[in-house]
This record gives sequence, structure tokens and C-alpha cells, in this order.
Amino acid sequence: MRVVVAGAGLAGLTAAVELVQAGAEVTVLEARGRVGGRMHGVRLDDGLVVDGGAAYLGIRHTELLRLVRECGLEVVSTPMSGDSTFLLSGRTTTTASRVPPLDAVALGDLFDKLEELVGQVRPDAPWLSPNAEPRDRLTVAQWLAEHLGHPDARTFFPLFLGEMMAADPSAISVLHMAFYLNSGGGIRYLNAFEGGAQQWRIDGGAHRLCEVLADRLGDRVRLGQPVSRIEQNVDGIVVQDGAGSRHHADEVVVAMPPLLAQRIDFRPGLRTPRATPATGRGCAVKVHLGYPAPIWREHGLSGWSVSTNGPLLSTVDDSPPDDSAGVLTGFVTGAAASAFSALSATGQRDAVLAHVGRLFPRLPRPTKYAVTDWLSDPHSMGCYAALFGPGDWLSLGPTLTEPHGHVHFAGTETSMEYFGLMEGAIRSGRRVAAELIRGDAAIPTSEEALAR
Ligand SMILES: Cc1cc2nc3c(=O)[nH]c(=O)nc-3n(C[C@H](O)[C@H](O)[C@H](O)COP(=O)(O)OP(=O)(O)OC[C@H]3O[C@@H](n4cnc5c(N)ncnc54)[C@H](O)[C@@H]3O)c2cc1C
Repeated sequence: MRVVVAGAGLAGLTAAVELVQAGAEVTVLEARGRVGGRMHGVRLDDGLVVDGGAAYLGIRHTELLRLVRECGLEVVSTPMSGDSTFLLSGRTTTTASRVPPLDAVALGDLFDKLEELVGQVRPDAPWLSPNAEPRDRLTVAQWLAEHLGHPDARTFFPLFLGEMMAADPSAISVLHMAFYLNSGGGIRYLNAFEGGAQQWRIDGGAHRLCEVLADRLGDRVRLGQPVSRIEQNVDGIVVQDGAGSRHHADEVVVAMPPLLAQRIDFRPGLRTPRATPATGRGCAVKVHLGYPAPIWREHGLSGWSVSTNGPLLSTVDDSPPDDSAGVLTGFVTGAAASAFSALSATGQRDAVLAHVGRLFPRLPRPTKYAVTDWLSDPHSMGCYAALFGPGDWLSLGPTLTEPHGHVHFAGTETSMEYFGLMEGAIRSGRRVAAELIRGDAAIPTSEEALAR
């Protein structure tokens, strides 16, 4: 069986390795000049690489943990001891709690309402959940206007959504928010460091995982070859890359975010789209600040902060496990990310340094600085993940994992479990590889059959 995999992110690489192990002849075509997609190592200085993309994982990410071990890599804890810092409506406070100092009853009420929505969504088929249709039509911003009266709940909610989904409330449907939170293991798990989805990082950077998988595949991985057309007819399948090269295959795996899959010229065309005009991009910019050591810990601080006064929505201590340097990672998300991305490099730096100066006035200026802007990245179009807007789950959901003839779809956005996360990417790659290995793919290639 000859298989072309389009996309060398975690999903495509996972599928490719499993298919090679099963005896398939595999070629992986990757648009970028590197593997890893949304898992990307950024060199902060000579010996220090930080996660410009995905970083965190937890105990429930069982496939990811297994793969990390199989690849000879290790996880390290995300440091989180010490006080939190909050900059809310212009006022800075430090407190032992990770919850912002806002009205506890209002926040409790908000979480109760969210838990109710999350509990009602059907994790395997959100479009079949009770009230799926009205919840898929309603944006989270509209839901907020109706359900959140207390100003502290209104202050807190965009911070929560920005951190969880890098999303603006007007960009996603209520059904998508509920599904995402459910799929990721629930609000408490997703939101937590100790015992939660942020407990660990991969030592040396999450991208190492993709590099090890790509090493196993050797010259089967071809970089700088964006797939532009996939043509199926009675003679087989031809995959064409941007340079016009044609690759013949029996099966194809498209392992990329839906907005990018939608751009491929499928012949015959897709019966149902991979994305709609309502499908949005998550918006995230990561900022890394390097210090000679994690100096904030000397002041009893964890480095964790949350701010309403941007640009950094939150900061996390991402120092290496041997404390040989101090690293604070800042997240700019949602609408703030678009505004930040539009600034000049100097404007961004000035804004970040001024903000960090207010959060942590006792810290010296950082000695290293890096910005990873995913908004302008044409090969991701959505970070952390694509955002399903109003109507998307009802129209896209039922066919999300359905093959188009001999073309199979992987990628974290096709996984019902841990959608949007590394764990979801692996599970999607495994699903597709298993389909092909079992032979579920024995579907006629005639144009009539495809067009049906
Ligand atoms: C800033 C940020 C923070 C994140 N934090 C976390 C986290 O802490 N924990 C977590 O679990 N997840 C996190 N994620 C999400 C995680 O990175 C993704 O879920 C996962 O990496 C997706 O893998 P994938 O293979 O599905 O897609 P991708 O990584 O997007 O891979 C798709 C690949 O396809 C390639 N491609 C695109 N178009 C074409 C084409 N036409 N032809 C050929 N190749 C093409 C792309 O270049 C890319 O390499 C984060 C993401 C970002 C950006």
C-alpha cells in the first residue's frame, strides 16, 4: 500500500510511523522547512530551547505520555510553587491562591453554569447533544450577555477563555466551548497545573517528539512541499505539491488544520467542506523572557500571573528543570493577540517590558527575549487550534472523520478526545493508521462514488 501523508505535525508523523511499521510505503509531504507544525522549539540562547508552540501535558494524556517514553524522552514538572500575581483593572495583588481575587460567589456561579453546559454535551458526537442546534447557533459572547450579570464574572470570563482556548467569545459557538472543555477532560482538569493538563512539559521541548518520529521516517519525509491538489480517479490517486511534483498513492492522509485542508484542490471536490466561513483561528502569541535564574522564586513568587491589562494575559514559570536559567512564558491571546501582532517589534517589546515591570517590579530586565507569533503563520491558521464558529458543529461534525474516497483526515481537530491538544493529534493519527491497516479504506475510487 502506497500512502502519502500531507502534513508532518504530530498527527501526520504518528500515522506515518504506524503505517511504516505495518509495511506500507509512506511519503510525508510537509509545507514548512521543518517538522512539528504547532510544536516548535525556539532557541532563547545557545543552550536553551523553549516551546514556541505546544508545551504542557498531564496524566490523562496517556497516548502522549506513552509516545514520549517510546521516543526516549522525559517529562519535567511545570514549576508552580509560590504566590500568584494578579493585575486586575490596574491594580496588582499577590496571593497564595491561583484564583483571581474577585467575587467568589460570582465566579462559583459562572463555573456552575459552565459545568452544566459541559456536562450536557455528548463527547463523541456534540451535534447530537440536547439543545445542540440552538447552542451551535449561539456565540459565547451572546450567551455571556444573557447569563453573566456580575461584573467580576464578566472580568474573569475572557481571561478564562483566552487561557483555555485562545479564543475571543464572539468567535465560537456555545456548543464548541462546551465540547472543547469536555473533550479536554473538564474545566478543573484543563485549568490545573498540579494533577491537571499543565502538570508537565517535555524535557528539551515538545518539538523533540516530532523530530524523533521524523528521524525514524528518514527520507520518507520531504520538507518544503505543500500539497496543493489531490486527484482521485479510476487509475489511482495523484497528489501534487506546490512545485508541481506528482506523487502516486493508493491512500492519502491529510493531517493538517481544517482551514488548510479546505484550501487543497480536491478532484472530485469534497462532498462536505472541512471548514466554513464561520470557522475561525485561535489567536495566540507566545513571549519568552530569559533571566540568569528564576529570580522571582527568591521573592516567594511562582511567576504565574493573570492580567486584564494586557498585553500578557498570563505568565508561567517555564525555567529548565536544573534552574540553570529563568524563563517566564507570556501568553497573548484572543483579540489582544491581534492588536499585539499588529505592533512593530519595538512596540511589542516596549509593551511587554512595561507590563512585566508592573507585574514583577523587583525583577531586573530580562536578558533574553523571543516572540512567537502564530497569527501570521500561514501553515497553522489557528492556535492553539481551529475555532468552530456558529453552525460549524452541526454542519462539519457528522463528517469530520469520514474519508473522501481514499483520502483520510487526521489532525487534532478531527479528534473527539482531547480536540486541539497534542493528545488529540496522536489519537487522530492512530485512528487513521488503524483504518488503513484494517482495510476500512477499501472504497471504490470512481468519480461517481466519490461524488455521491
Ligand atoms: C502557542 C500554542 C500553544 C499550545 N499549547 C498546547 C499545550 O500546552 N498542550 C497541548 O497539548 N497542545 C497545545 N497546543 C496545540 C498543539 O500544538 C496541537 O494540538 C498539535 O500540535 C496539532 O498537531 P497536528 O499534527 O494536528 O497539526 P499541526 O501541528 O498543525 O500539523 C500540521 C502540519 O501540516 C503542515 N501543512 C499545512 N498545510 C500543508 C499542505 N498544504 N501540505 C503539506 N503540509 C501542510 C503544517 O506545516 C504542519 O506541519 C498549542 C499550540 C500552540 C500554537
